[in-house]
Amino acid sequence: MAIATTNPATGRVERTFEEHDAAEVERRLQLAEQASWELRRTSYAQRSAWLHAAAGLLEEEAEQTARILTTEMGKTISQARAEVAKCAKGLRFYADHGAAMLADSPLDDASVVGAERAWTRYEPLGPVLAVMPWNYPLWQVVRFAAPALMAGNAGLLKHASNVPQAALYLDSLFERSGFPSGAFQTLMIGAARVDGVIRDHRVRAVTLTGSEPAGRSVAAAAGAEVKKVVLELGGADPFIVLPSADLDRAAATAVAARVVNNGQSCIAAKRFIVHQDVYDEFVAAFVKQMGGLRVGDPLDEATDVGPIATEAGRRDLVELVADAIEAGATATVGQTVPGDGWYYPPTVLEDVTDRMRVYREETFGPVATVLRATDADHALAIANDTSFGLSSSVWTSDQEEADRFIAGLEAGAVFVNGMTISYPELPFGGIKDSGIGRELAAEGIREFCNLKTVWTA
Ligand code: NAP
Repeated sequence: MAIATTNPATGRVERTFEEHDAAEVERRLQLAEQASWELRRTSYAQRSAWLHAAAGLLEEEAEQTARILTTEMGKTISQARAEVAKCAKGLRFYADHGAAMLADSPLDDASVVGAERAWTRYEPLGPVLAVMPWNYPLWQVVRFAAPALMAGNAGLLKHASNVPQAALYLDSLFERSGFPSGAFQTLMIGAARVDGVIRDHRVRAVTLTGSEPAGRSVAAAAGAEVKKVVLELGGADPFIVLPSADLDRAAATAVAARVVNNGQSCIAAKRFIVHQDVYDEFVAAFVKQMGGLRVGDPLDEATDVGPIATEAGRRDLVELVADAIEAGATATVGQTVPGDGWYYPPTVLEDVTDRMRVYREETFGPVATVLRATDADHALAIANDTSFGLSSSVWTSDQEEADRFIAGLEAGAVFVNGMTISYPELPFGGIKDSGIGRELAAEGIREFCNLKTVWTA
């Protein structure tokens, strides 16, 4: 894929970018290594000050930065502004709490290991490669970069090829915040060159947020090189509605949880599993609200759903929905948009069976799959009948039932009576084919550290 900004609202290429050649990648790897030695010698207080400076710059530049996101991948301008604000919050979170999360931890009674003192300390690993997707072009990167830099690692970003301006903005942001030159750099390279970078001896670890095939390929290279890897991959999160739920709130939240980011979020609710006793009432409200969504120009403040980010992404949705309809699903389709933009109407699929691709695959766009459950156990079984395990949402006012789902759902997170959102304060990540490891909170900053055990007599 060429490295270019192609506006999904028009389908037009707005800017193209040259890839970095081998010499430039080598220069950047050398710089990353030097910078990681420099960073290692700086204090947490210094790194915290640089992260605060980055947050301040981001806030000053919020409007132009939000426009870059909307132009490159089509999210609505209000959601782009919210993403910028969330990044500033994420930077400050690690600036304020990172040092405490990485504080030395003594063994209370060192005599049990024959020592006078014994403790653990967290140390940086060195340059870490981050392979990132286009759907949250700033947030996905910041939730890696803020903890990595606070811990004293250098970051190398290989961003998705369709968000080069966001990638270059991040490169400049950290440089202008005061971090040593090379502490955070963008590599303008295609996916085919990632393997070579992972195998370079200066790169100590790798993280990928993206699709399952990309994750498998990166994990294979990292495994062969015995390098730490964190993977944040796809999801097909269940949204389970049980009879005691507040149905009005559940239906309104279901719509928001499905179409957030034009439906292109890993943690969007994708499979709506509804108890048969409330099926008709819930689905009627859900379908009505999906149908009422305003689809169109993402720069228009009144738009709810913008275009799909890539032409290939829209083609995937067309194929998945056609496959389901051919096999007997019924579709209720919302507003369509004529013209060259890559729009896809909000769509609700009912009568879905396990013979259809939508039952097993991730739908990355505003397409909801609704499944009918005969009872709570059946709902749980359907929810877990997937190769993914990112997050989940369950709606009930019965505490015992909620507890059963909290324990029974095979996922990295369970949200009860709410939609899944990532918060800097909470660990984030999946199980099964949704990934390995955690981002955010204390767990996230510790992923790319050497936990060193110290024993002294
Ligand atoms: P993608 O095609 O996997 O791309 C993600 C990144 O990986 C891009 O930088 C891409 O580069 C690179 N890449 C692709 N194939 C690769 C390979 N074989 N080896 C090395 N790098 C490779 O994913 P996407 O379409 O951008 O993003 C959508 C997917 O990401 C969805 O499945 C979504 O659920 C998942 N996602 C997960 C999370 C999470 O936190 N769990 C968050 C957001 C998105 P190019 O652009 O140059 O191809």
